Amino acid sequence: MTKELDTIIIGAGAAGLSAGLYAARGRLNTLIIEKGIIGGQTESTNFIDNYPGSIENSTGPLLTKRMKEQCEQFGAKIVQEEISEIEKLDKGFFIKTNKEEYYTKTIIIATGAEPRLAGFKGEKEYRGKGISYCATCDGDFFEGLDIAVIGGGDAAVEEGIFLTRFANKVTIIHRRDELRAVKSIQEKAFNNKKIDFIWDTVVEEVKGSGIVQSLILRNKKTGEISELKVDGVFVYIGYVPNSGLFKELVDIDEEGYIIGDEEMRTNVPGIFVAGDVRKKSLKQIVTAAADGAIAGVNAEKYISENYK
Ligand code: NAP
Repeated sequence: MTKELDTIIIGAGAAGLSAGLYAARGRLNTLIIEKGIIGGQTESTNFIDNYPGSIENSTGPLLTKRMKEQCEQFGAKIVQEEISEIEKLDKGFFIKTNKEEYYTKTIIIATGAEPRLAGFKGEKEYRGKGISYCATCDGDFFEGLDIAVIGGGDAAVEEGIFLTRFANKVTIIHRRDELRAVKSIQEKAFNNKKIDFIWDTVVEEVKGSGIVQSLILRNKKTGEISELKVDGVFVYIGYVPNSGLFKELVDIDEEGYIIGDEEMRTNVPGIFVAGDVRKKSLKQIVTAAADGAIAGVNAEKYISENYK
């Protein structure tokens, strides 16, 4: 039998959990559907020192746990299901998952983004055999070993610093001669004796015998090819928005981000968007949570204006 809801939030990262909290506090019958890990990127982040109020010992898993508990305390339900179909009806929406069928008055899309693949030879083959996209999940497999981190943004540098807890040495390989990461994070990395940098360089290939043993590198300026012995590789070169499911439903930009206004409304009345899947400039836990709050409140307003 089709279950009826006021709002279905798709994705249980910071944006989805925040939307869940605000929607449930607005007395909406709220369901959060997550196909993967509760907490999304927050769950796989170690130090969170820029979410207001989180200072010492503030880890992603701890923040996720609190967000989830708070959301459930106010009555939001969270299920782990995979959506196969979303249909816009004359009024409301029909959603089918691998387990249930739902009717909902509103939808909040908070599906976030997933790691971008670097595209070098052997990347897919060696995933889980020395190549990882999550330092929190896999860092401790590399105790006393040598690791390379690919990328030059906040994530690469921050997670590179985190990996020095375990690794003998961390080499950050960046395609330019200047990092994109914010200055405070850069300074920490430059002052860390376990971190080396290789500039203007891209990875061409990973080599190994079942597990990663080395990387073939190409200097973009000189064209020089070299080999770097490593035991593990962490790829942090940005994210791709998880918007595939909504391509026929709402307006999406050329990079795949869903377009929403400052009230988190998409072009379809009743569908809102929040967090990293939304086209916006600053992607942080605090902005994801803010998006979620606005979407949750506006879903409630939309229902009170359109369902008398
Ligand atoms: P990002 O800021 O987009 O940086 C991606 C990095 O990877 C850039 O340095 C880029 O090089 C490099 N890159 C991109 N494609 C590449 C390729 N094909 N091969 C080699 N290198 C490539 O991504 P991010 O670091 O994952 O961060 C994503 C968002 O989350 C950002 O808004 C960031 O501020 C935020 N974030 C914030 C924190 C924090 O505040 N503590 C932590 C993590 C993430 P170029 O520099 O040459 O473009």
